Amino acid sequence: MINFTVGPVQMDEETRKMGMDQIPYFRTPEFSQTMKENEKLLCKFFDAPQDSRVIFMTGSGTSSMEGGIMNFFTTSDKLLVVNGGSFGHRFVELCEIHEIPFSEIKLDYGKPLTKEILSKYEKAGYTGMVLQLCETSTGVLYDMNLVGDFCQRNNCFLFVDAVSGFLADKISMKEMHINAAITGSQKALALPPSMSFTVMDTEAQKRCYANKVKSMYFNYADYLKNGERGQTPFTPAVGTLLMLNEKLKRIEAKGGIEEMNKAAAERAEYFRNRIKHLPFKLFTEEGSTSNCVTALMPTTAGVNAHKIFEIIKDEYGIWICPNGGDMADKVFRVGHIGSISKDEIDKLVQVFDDLAKRKLI
Ligand SMILES: *Cc1c(COP(=O)(O)O)cnc(C)c1O
Repeated sequence: MINFTVGPVQMDEETRKMGMDQIPYFRTPEFSQTMKENEKLLCKFFDAPQDSRVIFMTGSGTSSMEGGIMNFFTTSDKLLVVNGGSFGHRFVELCEIHEIPFSEIKLDYGKPLTKEILSKYEKAGYTGMVLQLCETSTGVLYDMNLVGDFCQRNNCFLFVDAVSGFLADKISMKEMHINAAITGSQKALALPPSMSFTVMDTEAQKRCYANKVKSMYFNYADYLKNGERGQTPFTPAVGTLLMLNEKLKRIEAKGGIEEMNKAAAERAEYFRNRIKHLPFKLFTEEGSTSNCVTALMPTTAGVNAHKIFEIIKDEYGIWICPNGGDMADKVFRVGHIGSISKDEIDKLVQVFDDLAKRKLI
């Protein structure tokens, strides 16, 4: 089995070995110490401003999308939500559920957010903005400098879903004026699914303390208070947090975030160069592609994208990533995060070549 999806992704040998261990009790100074290290390294890798904190949520990425909407915003806010695909659409639904007033910037799927589009929303009383770093469903990487400058100029609180983009694409909370950003365990960190992490600056923390959230499990003020002693209010996915600690330290030892970004960029470029002869078209607009994933459209008439995923899974034991919703028949994706080698990429290209020979693509 080779896994080219965007999560859960292939884990490193070091992480998999840790999966054999017993799960320790966690209300101990030793575990608190581990958590303090996790917090420090995540702040460093997000290039977070001084006195930033991290919330460790037991729940997949969506739990931290929802927790952020609930804790950072109130019904007095007016948000700008960028909807460029399934994950942007999820923020729209969350704002509706939690009754946060918002305007939706609906993009054509595969297209970036441009200066022209954003300029229509200048000086219009928005208090916050939410979007993805990488919209995983289309492979679009948003121009976060453009967004950050807009938010600074308009005094908007910026909350970024970097669940898939973190480690693959550059993110700097300081440079991009980001107040809070999230990632998840099963994306580029290549850990088992179970946890998601929110890095927040002092402004975000202030909002959590001021907000009266109608939830026990998603009360971020409680997480912040417990975090001061390196603990969480409730039992977290302890095993994943120990794996996180090992992984973050290993990233640090291997040259840090720049090296991770570089390696993802190399994998993405290698793959994109190797498939130039195949009957696929890049779904993502040129110049806005993320290193995390390549979204492709078959160009041969009658070829169905979801069918390609099924054939490769059932006949070759390789998983590429199917799309959902409106894009299911037209688009499939190949992920570049997790432990993927060039040999494995070559194997996938051989499979595509074989499908071409069999006239299936
Ligand atoms: C994967 C992903 C999420 C979270 O999805 P879960 O299934 O809840 O882990 C959120 N945002 C983006 C951009 C993602 O790629």
